[in-house]
Order: sequence, then structure tokens, then C-alpha cells
Amino acid sequence: MKKIAVLGTGYVGLVSGTCFAEIGNQVICCDIDEGKILRLQQGEIPIYEPGLEDMVKKNQQEKRLSFTSDIPKAIQESEIIYLAVGTPMSESGEADLSYVKAAAKTIGQQLNSYKIIVNKSTVPVGTGKLVKSIIKEHVQDSCVDFDVVSNPEFLREGSALEDCMNMERAVIGADNDQAGQIIADLHEPFHTTIFRTDIESAEMIKYAANAFLATKISFINDIANICERVGADVTHVAEGMGMDSRIGSKFLQAGIGYGGSCFPKDTQALVHIAQEVGYDLKLVQSVIQTNEQQKYAVVHKAKEIMGDVNGKTIAVLGLAFKPNTDDIRYAPSLTVIPELIKAGANVKAFDPIAIPATQQEFSMKLSQEQQQNIAYSTDLYGVLEGSDACLILTEWQEVLQLDLEQAKSKLKVPLIIDGRNCFSLEMMLEKGFTYHSIGRPAVD
Ligand code: NAD
Repeated sequence: MKKIAVLGTGYVGLVSGTCFAEIGNQVICCDIDEGKILRLQQGEIPIYEPGLEDMVKKNQQEKRLSFTSDIPKAIQESEIIYLAVGTPMSESGEADLSYVKAAAKTIGQQLNSYKIIVNKSTVPVGTGKLVKSIIKEHVQDSCVDFDVVSNPEFLREGSALEDCMNMERAVIGADNDQAGQIIADLHEPFHTTIFRTDIESAEMIKYAANAFLATKISFINDIANICERVGADVTHVAEGMGMDSRIGSKFLQAGIGYGGSCFPKDTQALVHIAQEVGYDLKLVQSVIQTNEQQKYAVVHKAKEIMGDVNGKTIAVLGLAFKPNTDDIRYAPSLTVIPELIKAGANVKAFDPIAIPATQQEFSMKLSQEQQQNIAYSTDLYGVLEGSDACLILTEWQEVLQLDLEQAKSKLKVPLIIDGRNCFSLEMMLEKGFTYHSIGRPAVD
């Protein structure tokens, strides 16, 4: 059993802190956002993640998991301090390290005994050293020692708990072998493959992995765009490609591009990391460009099929960047909906849980008048009622299980433009829809 403080109680900090408690450690999750901590102390989970609420409550009740905004105390009382603060994209595209630096300063000021500081945030190569130097600069008692370890996080929102409890691998980068071993031992109950390396390589693994996955997505989206022009079906192409074990079938689903809090910012950050050392990372730049274009695919299709969307009502299914999360960071919906609104359409948007976050985002991004052209609802069929078209942006279970007969009876025109290839072409033909998807022949 270890005493662990987790600095940053967001998607990563809350999930990994809870999982560390679940395997028997004493965990204090801290955050500078006092409102968030207050809600957690009262048993309210500020994010949506399947299974999280139950696991948090269980570990709170069993007194292994607690929440505090008294960060100094949490640091002083812990042996291991995990950094899980945000590293958002700055305006220039590089990772904004201000939260990491601030957290490192606090750790330095509160360091009262030997501790291992473990970085779980996604950070540019060299940040481990930077954290070390900031802590050293602020430490009061120069006799107190510490080590910095890199342990990047690979969980996926929407299945974060499952990913954490059954992690495929734990990457542990350390300069001090003993500190690395302590963190490796901490992961023992997860029965995972431990990959030990140096700090710089661990930091790089995270960016390289995300950039590679993003590349797979943009690659298949490019292929999808060609398929549409030559009459091939990208789902068949991807299936045939994926049978080659060197390629694999995962991350070959064509669609309207990746979003979320990681791929967009991590690809940009990697391009920036390369620039810093004088390397022009053309491949990843193209991946980013393809992804940006791809978000507009459903809007282009809508305009092409409907002619003018001005004055039309369009049902948009899905706001979150993927199913099972309320996270809308860099979600395609944030590009698609403003485009439709600017073209004069009225939008009726469905999402089971991401409506409050979207409303907040649009209150900052869109004018009052533009916002009034968006109606939100968690009632899927209500959104379809009287709409001139339906655009699918997120493949929520409710959307995949759409009762097509009912949907057809609600829509003014049986037109579905599907950015996630949710339905088979045969089925849409049989049900009498005009159906346009990504990289597949249109059904008319
Ligand atoms: P988040 O924005 O959800 O949470 C970050 C939290 O850190 C916020 O609650 C914020 O208030 C808090 N914070 C900021 N400064 C602090 C400080 N000095 N002390 C204590 N708390 C502080 O971010 P996230 O999605 O959990 O991501 C965290 C890191 O993990 C990022 O680097 C991200 O790239 C990486 N990551 C995220 C995911 C994901 O799916 N979200 C997956 C893998 C890795």
C-alpha cells in the first residue's frame, strides 16, 4: 500500500486515482478547482465516465480515496505524487505547460521527505527534467531528496476505467532505477506489461503513439474520399486491409475525423516538438490537415444534396467527440454546427449527456442570435420530428439502435447524412432512405 497524491482531478487524475485506490492504495485526489473538489466530496462526479461513480463511492466509503483542495497537505502526506494536470494546446500549437510548472513549484515548496513525482500528463520531451529543476529551485530543505518518473497515460475516454484496470501496458521512464521499480511495483496488481525506459523516451512514446493512431484515422479518411470518387466501399477496403496482421483492423473506421482532448493537441504538439529541433514533420502536418478538412465532409454533403440549407431544419445526432463521454473538446460538432448556422440552417441537436458542455462552449463562440438557432434535446425522435435532414456526428448506442421506421416517419424528408457509417447500405435502401455516408456509395 502506497500513499499517493494525484494533482489534477480531471478525466485522467480522477480515473487513475480511483483505480490506484481500487487496488489498495491510499489516494488523495487534489485540484485547484475548489468547486470540483467540493462536488466530489459530496459524492457528485463532475465528468461522465461509465462505472466511475460506483468505483469512486466504493473507495470513498472504504476510506482509500479522498478529495481535497489542500494541495500542500496532500503533498506532504504522500510518498508518490502523480501529476495529472492539463496540458492544453496553446495558440501556437505547442503544449501549454503552465499547469505542470505551477504544480511542480507547489511540490518543491512542500517537499518535506523523499518522494517520487510521477508525470502522467502528456508533456513534451524534456519536461521531466524541467519539473526536476523547478522542484529543486523551490525546495526549502536542500537535504530532502526526490525523483521524477514519467508514466504517460493511455486511457480512452468512454472506456477509461476498463482501460485503467486492464491496461495493455505501463510505460515507466526513470533515471533512477529504484524509483522506476517502485512505480513498476505499484502497477503489479493491474497484471500489465511493464515497459521500462528513460524519461525522454517515455515522454516521446505517448506523442508517437497518439500521432500514429491519428495517422491511421486520417489515412483511412483520405482513402474514403477516394473511394467515394471511384465507387469503392471504404468499409470493405478497411476490412480487407485490416486482415493483414501488419496493419490490423483497429482505427480504420472512416468518418468525420478525430476530435477529443488528445489527438488534436498531441499531433500539433509533436509537430512543434519537431520544429524546435529543426525537423519538418510533414507526415503529421498532413494528418492534421486531412482531419481538419474531414470535419466539413457532412456539411459539404448536406449543401450538395439539399442545395441551399438556408431556412432548413437539420437534426444533428451527437455532440460529444465520441460515445460514452461528455467531453466535447475539439469535437467535430463544434465545427459542423456553426457552419450550418452560418449557412442559415436551424439546428436541432441531440446528445444524451454533452448538451450542457456544448451550450457553454457555444455561449462563448457564437452570437446570441446564432445560439437561438440551435435547439438541444435528449429526445432523439423529438429532434428528428419535422427536420429536413439528419446528420450523424457521434455513434451513440441510441443512434446505432435508431428505429429507422420511426425515424422516417418523423423526418420531413428521409435524408440521413452519416458521418460515422452507422448503418448498412442494404438496410437504408430497404427502408427507403436517401443515405449518404463516408467513403461508401450513396443510397438514393
Ligand atoms: P482535465 O482538463 O480534465 O483535468 C486537469 C485538471 O487539472 C483540472 O481539473 C484542473 O483544474 C487541474 N489542475 C490544473 N492545475 C493544477 C494544479 N496546479 N494542481 C492541481 N490540479 C490542477 O485534463 P485531462 O483530460 O484529465 O488530461 C490531463 C493530462 O492527461 C493531459 O496532459 C492530457 O493530455 C493527458 N491525457 C488525457 C487523456 C484523456 O483522454 N483525457 C488520455 C491520456 C492522457
